[in-house]
Amino acid sequence: MIAKVSVDVPSAQTDRLFDYLVPAEWQAYIKPGMRVIVPFGPRKIQGFIVELTNESEFKQLKKVLELQDMEPVLTSELIDVGKWLAAETLSYQISAFQVMLPAALKSKVKKEWVLATNKQDLPLFVQALFGQKSSISTEVMKELNKQEKIELQALLLSGELIEKYKVIEKAKQKYIRMLTLNEPYTLEAMEADLSGRAKKQLQILHHLVHQKQPKATNQVLQDLKTTRQTLQPLLEKGFIREFEQKVYREAMKDLTIEQEHAFALTAKQKAVLAPIAEKIEHRKHETFLLHGVTGSGKTEVYLQAIAQVVEQGKEAIMLVPEISLTPQMVKRFKGRFGDLVAVLHSGLSAGEKLDEWRKIQRQEVKVVVGARSAIFAPFQHLGMIIIDEEHETTYKQEDNPRYHARDVAIYRGEYHQCPVILGSATPSLESYARAKKEVYTLLELLERVNNRDMPTVEIVDMREELRNGNRSMFSEVLMEKMKEKLEKQEQIVLFLNRRGHSTFIMCRDCGYVATCTHCDVSFTYHRHQHKLKCHYCGDERQMPKTCDSCQSEHIRFFGSGTQKVEEELTKLLPQARVIRMDVDTTSRKGSHERLLESFERGEADILLGTQMIAKGLDFPSITLVGVLAADSMLHIPDFRAAERTFQLMEQVSGRAGRHTLPGEVFIQTYTPEHYSIQLVQAHDYHEFYRKEMNNRRLAGYPPYYYMALINISDQELTKVISVSEKIVQVLKRDLQPSTIVLGPVASPLARLKDRYRYQCMIKYRNEPRLIETLRNIQDHYLKETNQGNLQIHMDLNPFIFM
Ligand code: ADP
Ligand code: ZN
Ligand code: ZN
Repeated sequence: MIAKVSVDVPSAQTDRLFDYLVPAEWQAYIKPGMRVIVPFGPRKIQGFIVELTNESEFKQLKKVLELQDMEPVLTSELIDVGKWLAAETLSYQISAFQVMLPAALKSKVKKEWVLATNKQDLPLFVQALFGQKSSISTEVMKELNKQEKIELQALLLSGELIEKYKVIEKAKQKYIRMLTLNEPYTLEAMEADLSGRAKKQLQILHHLVHQKQPKATNQVLQDLKTTRQTLQPLLEKGFIREFEQKVYREAMKDLTIEQEHAFALTAKQKAVLAPIAEKIEHRKHETFLLHGVTGSGKTEVYLQAIAQVVEQGKEAIMLVPEISLTPQMVKRFKGRFGDLVAVLHSGLSAGEKLDEWRKIQRQEVKVVVGARSAIFAPFQHLGMIIIDEEHETTYKQEDNPRYHARDVAIYRGEYHQCPVILGSATPSLESYARAKKEVYTLLELLERVNNRDMPTVEIVDMREELRNGNRSMFSEVLMEKMKEKLEKQEQIVLFLNRRGHSTFIMCRDCGYVATCTHCDVSFTYHRHQHKLKCHYCGDERQMPKTCDSCQSEHIRFFGSGTQKVEEELTKLLPQARVIRMDVDTTSRKGSHERLLESFERGEADILLGTQMIAKGLDFPSITLVGVLAADSMLHIPDFRAAERTFQLMEQVSGRAGRHTLPGEVFIQTYTPEHYSIQLVQAHDYHEFYRKEMNNRRLAGYPPYYYMALINISDQELTKVISVSEKIVQVLKRDLQPSTIVLGPVASPLARLKDRYRYQCMIKYRNEPRLIETLRNIQDHYLKETNQGNLQIHMDLNPFIFM
């Protein structure tokens, strides 16, 4: 028996199947889709069995060394999906297989030697190599002299040592630093020892005494608004101790799940569910686009459709964007389907993800709720796939293979003959256009459940505010409203589309902006550490005292981030309790959920945050939403800027007044006349669609054209330019005349991590030669991209143009 194996060497030369002999003892239970360890040149590597046959064109075959699975990790359907995915996205087959599996299953293999005899019987130098360990790594070979190497080989031959392949799972442990009091000291003794001026230190001691148990160092520093330096004297005196602790994921595990009952659907919801239910019942594929305003009861429709699928003994996949995967959402699903739900999201450790994935593989669950990669859930009787917030760009993977979950969903839907539902309050233009052309079936829910009003939206012209002498980041009306809501004890959401304290620093005398030396992007100022950081390569430097260019001391911070807003809030509304949610306050596992739950319990009046608060929140007492700077997205160099702005504003306003209390929204902007902002006021998606489609048509952008982006980068600028020019020549030569090839031009981010970047763009309507032409280009530069510095990325249907 011969196994055809896709091997874990992502390169064009190895992007095919390799034949291996299957040892007789495994033939009874080996199956396609299992992982194996195979010899490959001098190495042993992992691979997937794609096929089992009895024939091979090759005579001398090596044997499969190890079987890693008892059950296939890839179903025959997923093997097929992998092949299709690789072809569609111009990536390697092995990468496509790997992306469908939890990371923990991708393992490194290490060779090691273990004892097969008493250690005492071995030569002394070998005993020394083992020391206390039960195995030695083969790397020690390098350290040995010639005679020793020969002796070791002899031990292997005689069977006293055995060579083994140890699989190193990729699941990594995470540690955080914790602080605790050191036992022998009493608080009095410590206080006596510290001088009265050491206020911060005393505060820390009291805090830890109060805590009674160890607490994460970062949390202590954050809670007491102090820095690491304060800890130093306490650590030196031995009053406190710092240690590392494994981080377990606390989030979502201890959710209290209450059983939830289905609502009696409204007539409109029923009308939307009916055609979906029909497809479920008759096991037919169809793609639906469910356009439903925020709060129109889409999720309830999903839940009832899923219930029907489960009743049929089938399974359902529900995709939601990572940031909408809130405890609230999970509770709602678990409340309906209990233990039949698996949840897959990035907050899980690699091991936990594997656990959830195994539940699906073993058919212990019927429903998976998860972010993008959950689209590959190894269900075998799929009855429906739902993609909520289908317009979200996070459904596109920005690494190889650059797939879009929507395409995979439809492919799998056809395979399983089951419906696919794309849902959104603001569908992507592409999807809505397809629905108009009846490629998808359009379903609309244009009113909120039980005719609750959509929130009223007021647009505030910030130029006017400035003319009236208001230099604060809050307009007068918004300030008034916030005071009013605080008095009524209703909750407020403030949205800012940025992170950090100030986005960049600029010299007021000469206009110099501090930029990263490796990337052509400005540094971001981080107030907490008083440092400048590059958000692309991670490089950082101390905040300069004077301008690098003219030595002036007049350096100004530009842009205003969430931290700055928080400071101003505490000044202007000292009585308000504020929760800030941004990348900085939510970087720790579980903190996202903790902050939201705290807000839900009413422990704060204002939730201030970035993108991550735009979605999924459904709290009854939120009655006011303020958008601080609606324009910040409008001016990015991206043809989807207006669409993103409209979507985001509509999502954010959707947080207000979802229950009995009416909601009000204030959008502050410097471009109040822009249609993407104007139309949020009327909540008029259809008009936005009409206007934006017209612009896309005039400019020749999707959905009127398809697009492909090629990015070329290298450390040498001349190389990048010459390769880019050649690629453009080839494209113009080999593609149809009706296809438009633009560039090469320097990318908007012209240099990243010391690499120069160029790009060219292809716009086409129907281009049968595209894939072949791009493959040829890949192959032509194969050697250089494999060995040299050159990188060529190809992105079909790109979402990022930087
Ligand atoms: P969407 O997903 O469109 O934003 P949801 O499904 O979350 O809307 O519904 C909005 C609110 O209305 C939720 O609080 C939900 O519990 C409630 N709801 C949904 N459907 C019904 C119904 N048929 N009857 C009563 N309340 C409903
Ligand atoms: Zn950088
Ligand atoms: Zn200067």
